[in-house]
Amino acid sequence: MSRVSFDVAIVGGSFAGLAVARGLAQTFGSDIRIAVIDRAMPAMEHADDGRAFALWGGTQKILDGLGIWDSVAGDAETVTSIEITDLKLTDAFRPALVTYDAHTDDGAPAAYIVPADLLANALYRSVASDPAVTWFAPAEIESARWDEAAGEITLNDGTIIAAALTIAADGRQSKLREKAGIKTIGWPYPQTGIVARVKFELPHGGVAIQHFLPGGPFAILPLKGNRACITWSADKKEAARVIGLDDESFLQELDQRIGGRFGAISLDGPRRSWPLDLRLPRRLISPRFALVGDAAHGVHPIAGQGVNLALRDAAALIEILADAGRIGLDFGNGTHLEKYQRWRRFDSTMSASLYDGLNRAFAIDSMVLRAGRGAALGVLDRIPSLKNLIIAEAAGITGDLPKLARGVTV
Ligand SMILES: Cc1cc2nc3c(=O)[nH]c(=O)nc-3n(C[C@H](O)[C@H](O)[C@H](O)COP(=O)(O)OP(=O)(O)OC[C@H]3O[C@@H](n4cnc5c(N)ncnc54)[C@H](O)[C@@H]3O)c2cc1C
Repeated sequence: MSRVSFDVAIVGGSFAGLAVARGLAQTFGSDIRIAVIDRAMPAMEHADDGRAFALWGGTQKILDGLGIWDSVAGDAETVTSIEITDLKLTDAFRPALVTYDAHTDDGAPAAYIVPADLLANALYRSVASDPAVTWFAPAEIESARWDEAAGEITLNDGTIIAAALTIAADGRQSKLREKAGIKTIGWPYPQTGIVARVKFELPHGGVAIQHFLPGGPFAILPLKGNRACITWSADKKEAARVIGLDDESFLQELDQRIGGRFGAISLDGPRRSWPLDLRLPRRLISPRFALVGDAAHGVHPIAGQGVNLALRDAAALIEILADAGRIGLDFGNGTHLEKYQRWRRFDSTMSASLYDGLNRAFAIDSMVLRAGRGAALGVLDRIPSLKNLIIAEAAGITGDLPKLARGVTV
């Protein structure tokens, strides 16, 4: 049995965990020792699961500040406009109810679409050979304990990892959160998320489309090479039927939803499905312990914000730990962790409630509600200042932002 000491132990080497590791290694260089623990084998090539992320402007700045953006920029499709509709599939004419010019007030693109595996690989490469980072993977956590004085994680091979601060970045089902005694509230959605990458015959022109169908939202996220990622939340029974279809019938279903707008469609990768739920912890911290990413907020993918929230958590925590470390404070210092919780809690709770509400509001297929939604969206479409405000909000460039999200070095 061996015992090793670190300044920070990060459990979960995915988007949130790797971003924190990268930011801390970049800030402190050889003055910090970071352990990254993951139950999966770290690999240079993360598997392509067909997912693509809408990365909003504030997130692009964070990735740029972490020195990651240049490695993904070549594969990032710039979103030129965003169209929202809730019209029926049987409607012969399906105009968009709201069309956003996807640029912020300063003319910068509001969002980019990036394949998930490319982002994961870029983050992994940024820390893979950093001497400040020690990997423990594949490794399961046997037990863990924290108090005001110290924190310790025991792995299944008997290794004990002592750290001034433990960061749980182990996803929405976080085991570590449970071990820290942090309770959650939430519920499963009666929906399944279906993801497929497709290639279009006609140019998509960078338009992102959100079509609210009664079973759940159907999103078309444009990708480089005239491809797109379809992210489709359907009610469980309908999703099981769609997932069971052969490729040709699946493409026909997509074609019906896309309405022939981009010509012939072909599959360009695996199709996958995920159960969807909402999960919010009651606290983001406990002694010598902090939650980031999906462990801190499992939200509905309706607005494509999960990774964006995760990277905002990472940016806030990096900044707080950088400030603490520079004046020689212990990374597990409770005052700093309280600051992190105050800072990030509002954003994650508001976002989770908003996406939950949107999903419910659009899932109801009543003629009266559709007319009401149509009228509201129609009014919104004619108020440019309100549309600009909504784009700025979605882009994560408003509010009390971490320095990295504002393009400022930590
Ligand atoms: C269908 C779908 C579409 C989505 N689309 C978007 C989108 O367009 N835009 C967007 O921003 N977000 C989107 N998301 C959300 C996004 O995938 C998540 O927000 C993101 O993956 C969260 O990253 P994370 O690092 O917090 O956690 P995860 O990516 O879940 O990573 C958790 C890590 O922890 C490790 N781990 C888990 N348990 C343990 C353990 N016990 N011990 C050690 N290691 C452990 C795992 O191996 C993994 O590496 C989507 C999600 C789904 C399901």
